[in-house]
Amino acid sequence: MIGITSFGGYIPRLRLNRMSIFQSMGWFAPAVVMVAQGERSFCNWDEDALTMAVEASRDCLKGVDRSAIDAHYLCSTTLPFADRSCAGVVKTALNLRDNIVAADFTTSMKCGTSALVTALEAVKGGDKQNILVTASDKRESKAAYFYEMWFGDGAASILVGNSDVIAEFKGSYSVSYDFVDHYRGSWTEYDYMWEERWIRDEGYSKIIPEAVSGLFNKLSISMEDVDTFVFPCFFRAEHRKIAGKLGAVPEKVVDNMHEVCGETGAAHPFVMLVSALEKAKPGDRILVAGFGQGCDALYFRVTDHIQNLGPRRGINGSLENKKTIDNYPKFLKFRDLIKTETGIRAEAPTQTAMTVLWRKRKMLTGLIGGRCTRCGTPQFPKMDICVNPECNALNTQEDYPFADEPAFIKSFTGDLLAVSIDPPAVYGMIQFEEGGRFMADFTDCELGDVRVGQKVGLQFRRRLVDRTRGFSGYFWKAVPIPGSAPERKPREGVRFDGRVAIVTGAGAGLGRIYALELARRGAKVVVNDLGGARDGAGEGSKAPADQVVDEILALGGEAVASYQSVVTPEGGQTVVNAAIEAFGRVDIVINNAGILRDKTLAKMEPENWDAVMDVHLRGAYNVTRPSLISMRENRYGRIVLTTSAAGLYGNFGQANYSAAKMGLVGFMNTLKLEGEKHNIRVNTVAPMAATRLTEDILPPDLLAKLKPEFVAPLVLYFCSDQCKDSGLVINAGMGYFNRAAILTGQGAVVGGGTAIPTPDDIHRNWEAINDLGKAAEYPNSTAAFGPMLEAFDPGKKKSNGGTSPGRLTVKAIFDGLPDAFRADRAAGIEVVFQFVISGPEGGSWYAAIQEGSCEVSEGTHGNPTSTIKMADVDFVTLIKGELNAMSAFTSGKLRVEGDLMKSQLVEKLFKF
Ligand code: NAD
Repeated sequence: MIGITSFGGYIPRLRLNRMSIFQSMGWFAPAVVMVAQGERSFCNWDEDALTMAVEASRDCLKGVDRSAIDAHYLCSTTLPFADRSCAGVVKTALNLRDNIVAADFTTSMKCGTSALVTALEAVKGGDKQNILVTASDKRESKAAYFYEMWFGDGAASILVGNSDVIAEFKGSYSVSYDFVDHYRGSWTEYDYMWEERWIRDEGYSKIIPEAVSGLFNKLSISMEDVDTFVFPCFFRAEHRKIAGKLGAVPEKVVDNMHEVCGETGAAHPFVMLVSALEKAKPGDRILVAGFGQGCDALYFRVTDHIQNLGPRRGINGSLENKKTIDNYPKFLKFRDLIKTETGIRAEAPTQTAMTVLWRKRKMLTGLIGGRCTRCGTPQFPKMDICVNPECNALNTQEDYPFADEPAFIKSFTGDLLAVSIDPPAVYGMIQFEEGGRFMADFTDCELGDVRVGQKVGLQFRRRLVDRTRGFSGYFWKAVPIPGSAPERKPREGVRFDGRVAIVTGAGAGLGRIYALELARRGAKVVVNDLGGARDGAGEGSKAPADQVVDEILALGGEAVASYQSVVTPEGGQTVVNAAIEAFGRVDIVINNAGILRDKTLAKMEPENWDAVMDVHLRGAYNVTRPSLISMRENRYGRIVLTTSAAGLYGNFGQANYSAAKMGLVGFMNTLKLEGEKHNIRVNTVAPMAATRLTEDILPPDLLAKLKPEFVAPLVLYFCSDQCKDSGLVINAGMGYFNRAAILTGQGAVVGGGTAIPTPDDIHRNWEAINDLGKAAEYPNSTAAFGPMLEAFDPGKKKSNGGTSPGRLTVKAIFDGLPDAFRADRAAGIEVVFQFVISGPEGGSWYAAIQEGSCEVSEGTHGNPTSTIKMADVDFVTLIKGELNAMSAFTSGKLRVEGDLMKSQLVEKLFKF
């Protein structure tokens, strides 16, 4: 019996949300929205058809004796070399025997199925026993194009043999035509496509049925004898129609995988076949067709042996291991579709010496090291002397393959200065469990997720591209395995593991306690303090910051010192740079640095006013601005500002300090709005604690009770993931916490709105103007303006609660949604629209439409048809008809997840 004996798959980890293509380029190519469902796979910057082929082949060869492989066929239309056997590179990376045939099959989308037919016939002929056939494509297209939406990257591998067959080969039938649906001239970069309708009608719809019918006739079978029908066709409707025309019911047809990875070119018949084999049961009959300048059709019957096949990643495992991004420019950069500056460091020589590559091919391409035959110690690279100090034997090394050996991370770093297409460059020492270690580049990981002790797998990746000479160089890189890091302290309660915090003025007083407590709970801390005098005079000293860093290190935490004064923008930037250089990011900023220069106003010279403003108010601006810019990239941030009772309520002799401290509250009020959509929360503490700022102000018995440790819990809570509030001011001292807020009274209309009131009118109405009886708090200045308008139209008044009557609010829109529903237009429509509205007035609501009725509820639906995401202000503007839905969508103000087409029914079903 001959047939398939093993299979493997590889889809790159990166996926691009197709809507991000439309959201970036919809203004230019609006029609691409029609195929913008789901996500497409795409290669990391260091992957190509060759590296994916190595991965798929390794997956296929799990548990297979590699010395038994007699030939390797590599099938692709996107090989990195036009004249150098890429199958030869893959064969070397896999450490297959040298006396085999390694051949590239290329220049047609059906080269994979054609190679498979060739391999099956070669085994049938009896000359070869086992042939590894791998298909891989990284299909390129220009930006903002249908094909960019349709295409994906991927590889799959099939081992053909005559023993332990899992799917018996029953026969094949091929037709070959010079049908040019697309082509790529040997001197051009991208495919040239002919008209789609013609490709569908004359190509797919005629040629696939011809090959399949030919096979049916040849084998005297029909669609009745097929359980699973595999054939790629990225035209969704045609995919269905062709199957229907051949008599295949939808249940038999394998999904074309548009929504999960896209069309992987020559690899796609294999990708779909492997995904089918992963689900196949003994007895299943599988029909596979590969289209491209003709068509190959092959017929298999699954055997009992499939149950003995060992576990592997396969296609379904690859699909599960994914990182989906919305960052379309990153996709373009990884595919070299945008030009960027990489600086002179990138000009370092990249020429590969072919002499060395040949001499060291086993080490460089095959990751072969050595093992001492005397003591058994493995080492990389292989050398004349054994590295084991107890052994040091000479010339005892035998070849030892490292690529499949278990390894873990010994140390690592993220390097922002090294030239990298995806900075920071992450690299470090990896240790093999059985012995041997080397410095490896890490790939397919984010610095923040990498841990010492985490397991890594080795993958063959592109290391350099020498454009001048047209050469791609490869080596093995470490891929950290998600979830394999050793157990760490549980992230229970308020913890800051992986978070990076800046605390200004952390060398003493409250700041020191904040820094210590953050570090104790896992944060990496930048301890900023210029070490100055209480009034900010003098040179400053490094000692306070250094001392706190030493205390943190002694606790087993991580910290660096920054001695910069926060009073200048450059100083603030330097503090933030210290965090990024040391730890790669900023998550938390506590603006705490402070000085005092108390004098009554009459005696307060400008320098005393300015010095206090500079440290407290400007200092907060100087540090917060660069931090916020960095936080926005991570879509995460916690900012704490420090005000004072002196500012909130007044204190004799502190006009400068009070003004600066109250200025910070205004700063927060606006920052909370600007940070909202980036998941950045800003809150303010008004502390009361015994420090050098208060030592001569408060009585000694009170000072004894006012430990800074009593304030720190609140500030840490503000810094935590748990804190979802933004824009709060909380007094904290001695374990007592209470909120301070700006309240606005109901007020009074004086003069009826037409006559200009006189000062006497004000006098007469003073009690009502001054009354805070029904005071409310407002989320922003627009909301606070509402009562002024309402006051002239009391009839429209609604409940207050911080939102102003008379103004259209998000809540009011959803309250009115059932009335806006047009039942007459809803016949036969069954959808659930989930609305996720961000901003101070935001929340989640969903509208479930069924049998002509509409039910609106607050909250989140488990299985919405479409999810519509907008900021509150934009949503209200849209409903008022002042913002067009399409322009909101193309500008990114309106985002849709799930079924985009059905989301457009909102306009049909509701009239506002
Ligand atoms: P502190 O003097 O012990 O600590 C302040 C730290 O800020 C000092 O180590 C100082 O060297 C540092 N600093 C001063 N100017 C700096 C600059 N330009 N750049 C960097 N660092 C600088 O005082 P504290 O009581 O811990 O004060 C912390 C914050 O709390 C201050 O903003 C203060 O106004 C505020 N505050 C304190 C109290 C209280 O009761 N202690 C009350 C209200 C507000």
